[in-house]
Amino acid sequence: MKPRRVCLGSSLRWILQPAWLLVVISGAAAAVWLREWMPYVLGGACVAALGLWVLVSTLWPSAPDRKCPKCGVQGLVKIRRGAPGVRCERCGFQDETMHVAYLDDW
Ligand SMILES: [Zn+2]
Repeated sequence: MKPRRVCLGSSLRWILQPAWLLVVISGAAAAVWLREWMPYVLGGACVAALGLWVLVSTLWPSAPDRKCPKCGVQGLVKIRRGAPGVRCERCGFQDETMHVAYLDDW
């Protein structure tokens, strides 16, 4: 799959660099202005990020991509648990070296 490029109009493109500069300058100004609170702000941000990580991992657990390269149906299963190698339940496709992440847990 080719990566999609963000295409802004040429009239808007010049504003990106000043906008990023403004973001960096305002972030540095906020850090100087709130320097007594910065440890608490950073600690709170770390705790919030950890909580968000746990929430997202709980609500959307990892799932294997079982799509068969031959027939395109979700039919891949492991040949042996804990070892590389998959086969398709639908079309009989088999690859002894192919690895599909998280397929052992499925
Ligand atoms: Zn298949």
